[in-house]
Amino acid sequence: MDDPELAHLTKIGLSVTVSRGAGLCLAYDGAIILLPVCRNIIKYLRLTFLNNVIPFDENLWFHRQCAYSMLFWTLVHTFAHYINFIRVEELGLSPAWAVHYKHPAGVTGHFMLLIMVLMYTSAHRSVRQQSFETFWYTHHLAFFFMLALYTHATGCFVATNTVPKRCKGYFSWEWTIWGGIIYFFERVLREIRSRQTTQITKVIYHPSKAIEIQFQKPSFKYKAGQYLFLNVPEISSFQWHPFTITSAPDDSFVSVHVRQVGDFTNKLGELLGCYNEKGAIPKDLPLLRIDGAFGTPAEDVFKNEIAVLIGCGIGVTPFASILKNIWYQQQNKGHQSKLRRVEFFWICRDTGSFEWFQSLLKSLEDKQIEEGFLKFHIYLTSKLRESTIQNIIINDVSGSYDPLTDLESRTHYGRPNFSYIFSQLKKAIETGRYLPGKERDLETNVGVYYCGPAALAKNLKVDTKKSNSNGIKFHFHKEHF
Ligand SMILES: Cc1cc2nc3c(=O)[nH]c(=O)nc-3n(C[C@H](O)[C@H](O)[C@H](O)COP(=O)(O)OP(=O)(O)OC[C@H]3O[C@@H](n4cnc5c(N)ncnc54)[C@H](O)[C@@H]3O)c2cc1C
Repeated sequence: MDDPELAHLTKIGLSVTVSRGAGLCLAYDGAIILLPVCRNIIKYLRLTFLNNVIPFDENLWFHRQCAYSMLFWTLVHTFAHYINFIRVEELGLSPAWAVHYKHPAGVTGHFMLLIMVLMYTSAHRSVRQQSFETFWYTHHLAFFFMLALYTHATGCFVATNTVPKRCKGYFSWEWTIWGGIIYFFERVLREIRSRQTTQITKVIYHPSKAIEIQFQKPSFKYKAGQYLFLNVPEISSFQWHPFTITSAPDDSFVSVHVRQVGDFTNKLGELLGCYNEKGAIPKDLPLLRIDGAFGTPAEDVFKNEIAVLIGCGIGVTPFASILKNIWYQQQNKGHQSKLRRVEFFWICRDTGSFEWFQSLLKSLEDKQIEEGFLKFHIYLTSKLRESTIQNIIINDVSGSYDPLTDLESRTHYGRPNFSYIFSQLKKAIETGRYLPGKERDLETNVGVYYCGPAALAKNLKVDTKKSNSNGIKFHFHKEHF
């Protein structure tokens, strides 16, 4: 601000320096805020060595941090500008209202403030949980926000005192616009990709309001543990809902398990015939549009020696695909990975949920090639009714199979104590009982993958951290719906 060509602005006071500095910070935020939501680019970047340095799976967290930073600098920028406008009037340079409402910078600035109020309030967790659509549609105002941001400096707001005068702003739009261009192409790619032919091949109604949709889309490529976005134009052309892929890449179809919890999923159930009296699948199935697949931490399971997979309720879906993939790998021995042991925990509130993947778990248990490679730990957390307890006792006569799941592994009642489970696992590894043949001085990586409510994720993070030692490294990865 010691530029003699801008001396007429400097004389307004320190507020000019503050508004310009905050404006530059906002330009940086504006340039990067869209990058973490470029899911296609992130999908590829997380496969590179960069993933060891940049936590790409925390992309939405980073997007939020950019937004918080933007809010902070907006408050500073606006406050400083309001002081500037008062000073401009005091110095007799221009009436304040004219800078506010006649200059393009003032008009676009106020427009952006209005959009920010709408976007920030509707992005609050409580709104997202209660009415995701309100958040989703309001968030698309970002398009107009970005247009205003790129054009905020038109009209030569910062001009020199020379004759003729020259614009001497930061010209930040020249680089902030690239974030928008990249994001725009992401959305175009989504549109093109989602229009490729998709054919529903099978619909299975499971208990506890879960539907399994199997479909074919020849152009669709994915890895176990990834998720896709589903759109059903008959319900809404604009709503895209994420669902984890439950089939394995070697399957001849792609499948998702959808739990009916709200407007979209219930309407989908209706279109797929869930509420038909005879339970028959309708002849005219709705058109599906699929976008993806996108990466999640779960796709890295095969990079560990030991994987602890923990799914709560429908949070089991990422692991269904992984378990199937493990099975295919075992059949096809050419595809060996680092993975030597898998501990699979499934925590369910009600017994109906077990049926979603019962046949998959049963066939995995029966067809295990390597003894002890895959262990199931099923937990039922709801209180049982007396009639259910009686049924369990009656059906448990043979004792070889669990009466609830029909698996050899027994169902546990209540919540698992992960702190104890991890300490026991660590002890078993240390004493060489768990991975026989493994050299003791080599480091063992235990990947803990969790999909379920955020409250348990917090405890698991603490438990895994506590279990770390020099030779045994527990890595915690979470996902929640
Ligand atoms: C990565 C990921 C994978 C998922 N995988 C599965 C799965 O395999 N099976 C399954 O049943 N569910 C899954 N979900 C949850 C599923 O997306 C929501 O249940 C579904 O979108 C609910 O829509 P609705 O209109 O029926 O319900 P609503 O009543 O509108 O919403 C119910 C809950 O879902 C959230 N939600 C709604 N729409 C979206 C959206 N477009 N994007 C993100 N969250 C949304 C809301 O915040 C709310 O908490 C997954 C979510 C994520 C983020």
